[in-house]
Amino acid sequence: MQSFETLGLSGEIVDAVRKLGFETPTPVQSKAIPVLLQGQQDVVALAQTGTGKTAAFGLPLIQLMDENDNTTRALVLAPTPELAAQNGDSFRVYGKFLGLSTAVVFGGASMHKQKQAMFRGVDVLVATPGRLLDHVSQRSIRLDKVEILVLDEADHMLDMGFIHDLRRIATILPRARQTLFFSATMPPQIATLSRELLRKPATINIERKSAPATGITQALYPVPQT
Ligand code: AMP
Repeated sequence: MQSFETLGLSGEIVDAVRKLGFETPTPVQSKAIPVLLQGQQDVVALAQTGTGKTAAFGLPLIQLMDENDNTTRALVLAPTPELAAQNGDSFRVYGKFLGLSTAVVFGGASMHKQKQAMFRGVDVLVATPGRLLDHVSQRSIRLDKVEILVLDEADHMLDMGFIHDLRRIATILPRARQTLFFSATMPPQIATLSRELLRKPATINIERKSAPATGITQALYPVPQT
């Protein structure tokens, strides 16, 4: 069985993972972590929420970033405020062990507070696309040093109408970057977007679980429409 050590993670990160109570890597972690640690390799991963994908990209990302210099070198885009906040929480926990700073920006919350959070600069920025562009237009965020871009739940971002925002953000970021594209499904529009944004990506496909999660019992009760 694979362990976090054999995936190439540093001692510090393996210790951090233990503290989180993760004993063995999930399938998406086993496949994605060694590929991402090579750096400069774009990746498309088909993985659903609940498979451990946040750590699959989060752990190698913080290892690649290594030192804290409070310039935004990693940008994680998520479709909803809730997912952005969850990602932010995970990065705060992972990054704490390496002293990396994280900020989260999403719509519906105070721009002013978000600007203050970013004032001193952050290493990892987690954002929803629309609010990120609001900050870019107000010059409260600089993206010219981004080395790693993560699109989390890309199919959801498409459903929510963010495709034009994503294309715009891609034009603002440095071209020389590593892009990681996570999606639960790969409809044609998402496949097209991945071809636009990624260069020679490695593809990671995690088999869909057909069984419900442990502890969940499913039942179907057909009822008349009334
Ligand atoms: P995610 O798919 O990233 O939303 O993760 C789903 C849940 O699994 C989160 O609560 C994680 O903390 C947890 N998790 C992720 N990786 C592992 C692991 N290797 N072992 C145990 N739990 C994990």
